[in-house]
Parts: sequence; structure tokens; C-alpha cells
Amino acid sequence: HQPHQCHLILELQAASPQAEPQRQPQRRCRFCEKKPQLRRPKTGHAVCRDCFFWAFEAETHDTIVSSRMFSPGERVAIGASGGKDSTVLAYLLKTLNERHNYGLDLRLLAIDEGIAGYRDDSLDALRRTEVSLGLPLTIFTYRDLYGWTMDEVVRAAGRRSNCTFCGVFRRQALDRGAGHLKADKLATGHNADDVAETVVMNLLRGDAARLSRCADGVTHTGGGLPARCKPLKYAYEKEIVLYAYFKRLDYFATECLYAPAAYRGHARALVKDLERARPAALLHIIQAAEQIRFRTDARMPELDTCRLCGYVSSQPVCKACVLLDGLNSGNPRLAVGKSSACSAKQQQQRMLTDAGRNRAQCCGSAGARRGCSGSACAAAADS
Ligand SMILES: [Zn+2]
Ligand SMILES: [Zn+2]
Repeated sequence: HQPHQCHLILELQAASPQAEPQRQPQRRCRFCEKKPQLRRPKTGHAVCRDCFFWAFEAETHDTIVSSRMFSPGERVAIGASGGKDSTVLAYLLKTLNERHNYGLDLRLLAIDEGIAGYRDDSLDALRRTEVSLGLPLTIFTYRDLYGWTMDEVVRAAGRRSNCTFCGVFRRQALDRGAGHLKADKLATGHNADDVAETVVMNLLRGDAARLSRCADGVTHTGGGLPARCKPLKYAYEKEIVLYAYFKRLDYFATECLYAPAAYRGHARALVKDLERARPAALLHIIQAAEQIRFRTDARMPELDTCRLCGYVSSQPVCKACVLLDGLNSGNPRLAVGKSSACSAKQQQQRMLTDAGRNRAQCCGSAGARRGCSGSACAAAADS
């Protein structure tokens, strides 16, 4: 029922012995006596459905155990969009948590940008997943987290800059939501394709700092924020689609309304080409990135946190706080970055000075771990 799924099922049929006689007929599953039902995109093995489930689940368990992703008793927020990756992730974590006694308190965490008419279908799929998996779902809106819906932002800042706002807010929204849920960990549905893409992108940009950590299964540790985990980092996107299909999982194809940034598009095309030529390339890109050692004397920007809201930022004041400051002071266009680097510095400096002045009245909510930025903090404290 979804275009990319249809394409994969065709591949499936092509992989079955009847449909493609020129290929060596496989009468038996690679692992058991049963008839094979698919060829695994990752390994090329012809396998039956049950052996595919078994292998896919065992590999995810292995990823979780080998990177010591979770500890017993932890609350894990699963960043869920209603799309295939996060739906498979939620199903797998629930299954493995019960099978291997991880002892985790699993929660579904979703973000609603507040765009009328958009997200409805994917949030409906998510509500059905909440019922079928029996995992409590919390939906935070941009209004809960920032005090503004995207529709309101568009009215204030105009249509042209909506991608800037939404992108910046979205990057931080799951961290903020997980903070509100008092989660110890935030698990996201990033798959092997996503990770390989990010590795290639950081390599092409010469961004050694990001390259050194982008393939890690657990990131953003320390600093009081929930660490981010990627249990599906070795799972191929094609296999996630197959798993969802054979398990009949209920999801909605949520292609982002906004085209991926141009540079990521190039990296994506390159990685897909490499995978077509040699499926193992995807895995090898990730494994190579994991093995890279960096010179310890090289200057690397430290992963830091925003001095106003306390969430991850490479600048003293994060982009979300800068944009919110623009919105709340009635100057949204100024904040989008049309201004020079010099005046951006001045704005950050002014915000820090203002925050220092307001600190006495800081509400001390979850949104304001390191002091209070006023509006952002007050908005976060609302929910
Ligand atoms: Zn089998
Ligand atoms: Zn901030």
C-alpha cells in the first residue's frame, strides 16, 4: 500500500526461486528445513520468515548488549513518529525487553509540530501502536516545548523561513520531551543507512569532531541530558521495511514535508549506489568510522550545552533559543540568520546578559537546567 514497500515486495518476488529461474534455486532456508521466503538485503541469504525474524532480532539484541546501551531499571523514551523505523524500534524494544529481561520502563515519545492537517495520519498510527504494544504514549507539541506552534511561527515569521524554525526546533524537541518524561535514555530509530550517510557526510565535510562520534551507538552522555541511543544502527532500511511488512506492523509512511538538506541528499545517493554495488559496503562504512582514531592533540570543539536552556549546542546560546528570542521579541526575521556573524554574536551576548539579570526569577523547570531564558523556560514549565 506504500510505494517504496511495493517496490521491495517486487524485489522479494524476484528473490524467490519461482520468479527468477536464472538464479540458483534455493529449496531450503539457509538456517532450517523450511522454504525460503526472502533474500536478506544485508547478507544475501535466502531465509524463511521465522529465521529472518530470529536473525534480525538477535542482531538488534547484540547491538544493545555490545554497546551497553541500557541498564536495568532505566526509563527509555522511544522517539516515535508513527513511521516505519520508530514503529519497528518500539516493537523490537518491547519484544527484546520481555525476552531478555532488560528491566526497562519503555515510553513512546512523539512530537507534534502543530501544523494543521499534517501529522494527523502518523499520530493516528502511533495511537494504534500505543494500544497494540501497551506502551504509554506522550505527545508533546511545539507549543508545549517552545510556546509556539509552527502555524503561529509561519504567521509571525513568514513562509520562507519556516524550514529553519522547524528544523532547529525538531533537532532539540526529542531531548526536551525526554527531559519532561524524566527518561534516562532516548532511543531513536536511526538505521544503518542513516548512520552510513552521516559518516560519509562528515567525511566529505572534513568534520573530524562529528565523524569521531556519529557512528557511536550511544551519544550525548553526561551533562544531565538523557543519552541518545541507536539500537537499529546496524539494521538496513530495506530489512526494517521487510520486518514491518511480515510482522504486519501498523505504520504510516511519513516522508518529511521538507526535502533533506542538499548535502545530505548527495551523501544519501552515494551510499545507496555503493549499497547497490555491494550490500556489505553500508556496514563497512559504519565499522570503519567506529575504528577511526583521532589525534589527541588536534583541536576538537567539545560537545557543549546552551547556557540558557541547557540542551546540546556548539555555541554558548543554541539556535533554538536565538530563534525563540526573535519570535518573542517580535523580530523573527533577524534571528533566521540574515544578519552578519558580528550582530549574531551581539545578539547572543545580549541574551546572556538578559538571562543573568533574570536569573533571580528563574523558575528552575526542566527546560532551564542552567538558568532561565525567560520565555523558553516559562514555555517549557507550562506543560
Ligand atoms: Zn528458516
Ligand atoms: Zn538554548
